[in-house]
Amino acid sequence: MPKTDFTWTREQFHLPDGVIYLDGNSLGPLPQAAAARVAQTVTDEWGEMLITGWNKAGWMAAPKSLGDRIGRLIGAAPGTTVIGDTLSIKVYQALAAALRLAEPGRRIILSDSGNFPSDLYMASGLIDTIGGDYELRTVAPEDVSEALTDEVAVLMLTQVDYRTGRRHDMAELTAKAHAVGALTVWDLAHSAGAIEVDLTGADADFAVGCTYKYLNAGPGAPAFITVAPRYADIAQPALAGWLGHDAPFAFEHAYRPGAGIDRMRVGTPPILQCAALDAALDIWDRVDMAEVRARSVALSERFIAGVEARCSDVTLNSPRDPAMRGSQVAFRHPEAYAVMQALIDRGVIGDFRAPDNLRFGITPLYLSEDDIDRAVTILADILDNRLWDRDAYKQRAAVT
Ligand SMILES: *Cc1c(COP(=O)(O)O)cnc(C)c1O
Repeated sequence: MPKTDFTWTREQFHLPDGVIYLDGNSLGPLPQAAAARVAQTVTDEWGEMLITGWNKAGWMAAPKSLGDRIGRLIGAAPGTTVIGDTLSIKVYQALAAALRLAEPGRRIILSDSGNFPSDLYMASGLIDTIGGDYELRTVAPEDVSEALTDEVAVLMLTQVDYRTGRRHDMAELTAKAHAVGALTVWDLAHSAGAIEVDLTGADADFAVGCTYKYLNAGPGAPAFITVAPRYADIAQPALAGWLGHDAPFAFEHAYRPGAGIDRMRVGTPPILQCAALDAALDIWDRVDMAEVRARSVALSERFIAGVEARCSDVTLNSPRDPAMRGSQVAFRHPEAYAVMQALIDRGVIGDFRAPDNLRFGITPLYLSEDDIDRAVTILADILDNRLWDRDAYKQRAAVT
């Protein structure tokens, strides 16, 4: 008996008429309940309770309770996940904390060349700030395992490649990292809500991710951070903000980190975004990740087979083996930007990732087989008839 009712989950989202949304890997759509939940938080809580909302409406406790609901989706133990800030900030915080815990003398932060630039920028910025002779070493994704040597302090990877969907084996690489004495920071931006993740089973040290992609909490929704229980009370949060202090309202001059995951909080949580996240997680609370994953694979396979059978000039730029992929599919085309604009013009929303990728998020909570088939038909029409070949489709916008 399946535990997830995908007809019900689809009804929980607002999708504009005529749109086939294949970009939930970049910004999830609006959960129907989120608009009212945010409005209620504005009028009933902020409007009526004013500052007493921090206590009366539970605003202060929200980052941890929301964190635990995300934790269930990524195999994190209760009490080890908290939300706040943006993902870039949480990458910095996790990496800084991991470096402090690393064996003295180790100087290498190991990552891969497919990592999302912001993660690499944050690592470089951190190295510039702390000085010392740290080095950010990036190798090809397939060479990561071999590059894990006893010089490595921290292995910092995004599990699922934002462009191609290629997926790292978290359990295997974490075990290898630990075997050479390194810590791990896993970025789950394209994993949380996309694939089954078992942080506890993989024995991962630190993990971070965002809530506006597959988790559907809206633009600018807060990120999350998970710290393994063995480090929860000894990790130094690096960004030592007052809400991570042991006693924020004692207003002490000296920083004392709070207990456990609380110390990874920094400043005031975004309560209106938390309301949207709460509504989004109401859907996830009723979903089984193994079933989401099975359906994601089935829809992705259907999409790839359809495109390869009917569309000329595109080549798959994602692993062919579904076990090696996340929940997104990329195809290359020399005019990918214009092709994507033509698709969007016809109601099929994916995105373009430089230099030549058409990227499609496959999100089972609100996509059907019929959506996939119609998207294939529209893409085939655009390619067969060169409908992309118009100046208007070649003007690059700020966000692609
Ligand atoms: C989406 C994404 C980010 C974005 O970071 P923000 O600070 O939320 O803008 C960072 N890293 C990865 C791997 C991502 O996929």
